[in-house]
Amino acid sequence: MGGLGSGRYSLNRKETTSDYLRLDVRWLQRAGDLVPGRSNTLEWSQNGKPCDTITVICEFNSILLSYNHRRWADPWKHEEYRVNIDWTPCHYGGRRPWFLCPAAGCARRVAVLYGPGIFACRQCRHLTYETQRKSAYSRAIWRAQVYARNLEAPRTCSSRFRENRKGCISAHIGGCS
Ligand SMILES: [Zn+2]
Repeated sequence: MGGLGSGRYSLNRKETTSDYLRLDVRWLQRAGDLVPGRSNTLEWSQNGKPCDTITVICEFNSILLSYNHRRWADPWKHEEYRVNIDWTPCHYGGRRPWFLCPAAGCARRVAVLYGPGIFACRQCRHLTYETQRKSAYSRAIWRAQVYARNLEAPRTCSSRFRENRKGCISAHIGGCS
């Protein structure tokens, strides 16, 4: 991306949250990207390989997210939408930014939005805490193994798990049941 103040930087997808892409408003603030006219390409990588990129364009009290994504083997879909930014005063001066969750009917004030697909707050994505997710993931694997043993796993199910191992495609826990 060209233009005023454009750049590119990389984010690591932590192993523990590899199912989701985290977009933290504080990263954008630290990188100086919450200034109208700035644009940046954020790139997530895992195991040193780029997986997902989105372009963030800052407007007045909002950012525009622009990217392509697809779910499993579905065709690529282009997404472009605004996320409003709210500011609250800090105790010792200055102010801090917040995302207003862009999901319909939500608008919660949050520091982090979760992708892929449409970025939304933890509540809208129904994210549970890591330990709960780990056990949900184990249950999903266990179910897949039971399918494989007893029934023959549905094709969509086994391909999902192959994609998960590569780490670039999010795991939709329990999506195989
Ligand atoms: Zn929300």
